[in-house]
Amino acid sequence: MNKNDIQSAIETAHAKFAGCTDGANASYIPELAKVPSTLFGIAVVTKDGEVFSTGDADTPFAIESISKAFNLALVMDQIGSKTLREKIGADPTGEPFNSVLALVAHGGRPLNPLVNAGAMATVSLVAGENGEAVWANIMKRFAAFAGHPLKINDDVYASESATNSHNKGIAWLLDSAGYFYNQPDMIVDLYTRMCSLNITVKDLAVMGASYANGGVNPLTHEPAVQRENIAEILAELTMSGLYDSTGDWLYRTGLPAKSGVGGGIVTIVPNRMAIAAFSPPLDKYGNSVRAENALIDIIETLGLNPLKS
Ligand code: GLN
Repeated sequence: MNKNDIQSAIETAHAKFAGCTDGANASYIPELAKVPSTLFGIAVVTKDGEVFSTGDADTPFAIESISKAFNLALVMDQIGSKTLREKIGADPTGEPFNSVLALVAHGGRPLNPLVNAGAMATVSLVAGENGEAVWANIMKRFAAFAGHPLKINDDVYASESATNSHNKGIAWLLDSAGYFYNQPDMIVDLYTRMCSLNITVKDLAVMGASYANGGVNPLTHEPAVQRENIAEILAELTMSGLYDSTGDWLYRTGLPAKSGVGGGIVTIVPNRMAIAAFSPPLDKYGNSVRAENALIDIIETLGLNPLKS
C-alpha cells in the first residue's frame, strides 16, 4: 500500500457516502442538533506520522463518547489493566450506551468503560485531590494524544449540563452499589466537560494513531499511553466501541473502534494507522451513518481487516 492508495481510498469513500441522507443528528443534547448535517470529513494518520485527509477535516466537533477511549488510557496507566477490569469490567452490555437496565441487571456493575456508566466510573478513578486537579490530569492526557491542548465547546457543555439528569442518576446508582470512586455530581460535571471537548477529524486520527504506534504520538513523538496497556484498551474497543452495534461493525471490519454522538468514529489498525471519520447524522444506536459506512469502505478497499486472510 502506498500513499496514493490511502488518499484515493478516503476520497472514494467520501464521494460514495457524501450524498447519503440516512440518520439524524443527536437531539437529546440540544446543541448537537444544530450542527450542519452535511459536514463530512475523513483523516488517516499512519504510525510513521503521515497525515491524509479529505472533506471537512478541519471542522471542530464535540468528541462525546470517543473521549472514553482516551480517558481509559489515563486510568489504565494509573491503576493497571487488572484493577481496571475488576473495578469496571470488560464485557459488552448488549444494551444502549446510557442503559440503566444493564446496570441493575448486573448488581450495579458497569461492565465496561465505554458505556456511560463505566465511563463515568472510570473518570471517578482519575487521580487528583480535587475536581480541578482531576480535570488537569484529563486535559494533560488528551493533549498528549492530540499533540496540542483541546478546548471545550462551551455551547455543547452548557447544553449537555442542562440536560444530563439521566447521567447523574446513573452516577448515583453506581455510587450506591459501591462502583463509584469520587463525588458523583462533581464527576458527572467533569465527564460532561470531557465529552464537550472539540476535536477535528484530523485530531481524532492523530489521537488514535498513538494506539497504533506503541503508545507514542507519531507526530510529536511524545508518550500518550503505556505500551503494556494498549492490547487491553483495544480489547475494550473491540467489544464495545460502537455500543450495541459493535458486533455488526466487527463482522465487517475486524477492528477496534470508538464512536461518539457528535458524529465522530475512530478505528485503529494495530501497528499501522488510525482512520477517523466525522459526520453528524446518527443511526438508532448513536453511530454516525456516513462515518461508519466510509470507514467500512476504506478498510475493505485497503484490505485492513486483520481477521481476513
Ligand atoms: N456525553 C454523551 C452522554 O453522556 C456521550 C454519549 C455518546 O457519545 N454516546 O450521553
